[in-house]
Amino acid sequence: MSLPADEYLKPDELATLKGVLDEQLKDILSQSKDAVSELVEVREADADPLDLAVTESNRDFTLRMAERERKLLSKIRYALERIQNGEYGVCESCGAPITFGRLMARPVATLCIDCKTEAEQVEPKKKMF
Ligand SMILES: [Zn+2]
Repeated sequence: MSLPADEYLKPDELATLKGVLDEQLKDILSQSKDAVSELVEVREADADPLDLAVTESNRDFTLRMAERERKLLSKIRYALERIQNGEYGVCESCGAPITFGRLMARPVATLCIDCKTEAEQVEPKKKMF
């Protein structure tokens, strides 16, 4: 590692970010528990066809939300894993440090700002094919 040590996360910064990730993990887990119990309640309560149609679209919405949460959940778990392995805060693409400020804004970030910008510039081109 030839990069200046002070660019990497300090132990207290790492602890702060771990706290943020733990909190997000807890939030999602309690939210998705609520969503699932709501689904079960609605299914049991409604028998009217019109209500069922509404219920069905609510259910789709809930499932879509759940899908998004599931993806975020796996990102958060991955970030926590990287903290344990001592890989957190290091860009997966180029190995450069990801700044504390960037991680506070997006704790699940795995790329430094340069690599992220590059990835975003590549994406629209892919869509043309
Ligand atoms: Zn990078």
